[in-house]
Amino acid sequence: MKPVLTESSAGIYCPPGGFYIDPRRRVPTAIVTHAHMDHFRPGGQEDYCSSSSVGLMRLRLRGKPKVTGIEFGRRLEFGEVTVSFHPAGHILGSSQVRVESGGQVWVVSGDYKRGEDPSCEPFEVVPCDTFVTEATFARSAAAWRPGAEVIAEISEWWRENRRAKKVSVLYCYVLGKLQRILAGLSALDAGREVYIHRDAELYNECYRRAGFQLAPTRVVPRKLNGLSLEGALVLAPPKYLQSSWYRRFGDTVTAFASGWMALEDPCKFGYEKGFALSDHADWSELVRTIEETGARSIVTCHGDASELDAYLRSQGYSVSSLPRA
Ligand SMILES: [Zn+2]
Ligand SMILES: [Zn+2]
Repeated sequence: MKPVLTESSAGIYCPPGGFYIDPRRRVPTAIVTHAHMDHFRPGGQEDYCSSSSVGLMRLRLRGKPKVTGIEFGRRLEFGEVTVSFHPAGHILGSSQVRVESGGQVWVVSGDYKRGEDPSCEPFEVVPCDTFVTEATFARSAAAWRPGAEVIAEISEWWRENRRAKKVSVLYCYVLGKLQRILAGLSALDAGREVYIHRDAELYNECYRRAGFQLAPTRVVPRKLNGLSLEGALVLAPPKYLQSSWYRRFGDTVTAFASGWMALEDPCKFGYEKGFALSDHADWSELVRTIEETGARSIVTCHGDASELDAYLRSQGYSVSSLPRA
């Protein structure tokens, strides 16, 4: 039986359909799971993604990209191959890609999580024969607490810093994590305005347009011109962890929100505090998801999956890489 998906130098390739999934190089036809930069390349002829990813993709692709949005669950034909998008629960519009050909069903997970997230569509289990799963945190030590609990801690940290007249500067990825925090805070600190780095502004608009409720935000001006940020919460991407950028706010406290904060010391990265908030599946979510798909053939990618691969083999799964194109 011919493989439905293969590994090529440009990424995952579907020979009978003639398309790539999350290509690493510029390709004619790409199926894109989500708008994080490690999942697509600008400059191809045509990109397909979920409808709710289109706005984010347009922001990230240069020039006049041809981006086609497909509703979740709608079937698309590429020759004899049927493709559909299904929510992955990672960021707005993030998808798993279901590929059916010759009676076989393959699912490429993209990045995903199972934990509750008020800023994106929840993960959907898609039954399949072969499941190509991400493995960013495929180690048994990775175990997340519920996101709502962590965001409540962020809110409490902000409250304490506010009382001490300090500025809370919370670093996080600017697409996905930042909006998840804003969505969580909108329920906890209703109406309280959050300052954001300008890099986040257009992404926030995409989320609001898609109907997700975020806390009200204001962009930190390039020049403060006497504006006091005392007691404020500022969200910014990690590349602005430079004292020249945040010291001008006054008396600051810094923190980082990331899954890595469950496994590493925030001081190692230059932060005073860490909040363990991940948009990837932890060990138990990976194992549970693999079981729920019913797939017996598993391909792991993105990250060191040696511990997960060994565990799955011990459970009788067939674990392999994609065949070379
Ligand atoms: Zn991602
Ligand atoms: Zn990724």
